[in-house]
Amino acid sequence: MARKYAIKEVFATLQGEGAQAGTPAVFLRFAGCNLGYEVCPWCDTDWVKATWTLGLDDTLELVRRTAVEGFGAEKPGLLLVATGGEPSLQLDRPLSDALRARGYRISMESNGFRPVDRSLVDWLTVSPKQAVFGQKDGDEMKLIYTGGAVPGITPNVDAVRAIAAGTEFASYFLQPVDVPATGGPNYGEAIAAVMELGPPWRLSVQTHKVVGIP
Ligand code: SF4
Repeated sequence: MARKYAIKEVFATLQGEGAQAGTPAVFLRFAGCNLGYEVCPWCDTDWVKATWTLGLDDTLELVRRTAVEGFGAEKPGLLLVATGGEPSLQLDRPLSDALRARGYRISMESNGFRPVDRSLVDWLTVSPKQAVFGQKDGDEMKLIYTGGAVPGITPNVDAVRAIAAGTEFASYFLQPVDVPATGGPNYGEAIAAVMELGPPWRLSVQTHKVVGIP
């Protein structure tokens, strides 16, 4: 039986985070995650129930319609952000090949718990949510800085250093955790941590939330 993809949402916007912030992109958010809200109680994404379960052609048509509505066309080089949930559970060779054939540059945002086939993507962001994880290289590591007030694997800079030890990423970002119940993003803690860590660490701000886009 032909492969189906469980998709939560598709939308046209600008990438908000990390080194590609500001880049026009179609976000393809898959449903399902191999970690879940018990591991990441501060997760800001609804990935639980698929809105669509589609075969390859229907998935491509959904992406095409979204690009046309958002950008006027499937413009060559447009970023396709495969996210979730955990997108590595679903982005496979047929979908990757078909998206690239339409001119997309594929960026994946993975929790890196298990190794990712980098040949499927043009850009890999790894955002570990557990201290032990499998994907140790990529274009950027983006660690959510939970700091002192929120449970997580990054309570302080020593934990950040330990997670990054032995990894090889082109860029390293620390991103404030956004928990409305504790007053929103912990910018102060995250900025202090980046200043203490020094290079190559940089601050990643969720600019899409600041400017009010998806
Ligand atoms: S791994 Fe990512 S998508 Fe899954 S629960 Fe954690 S933060 Fe949410």
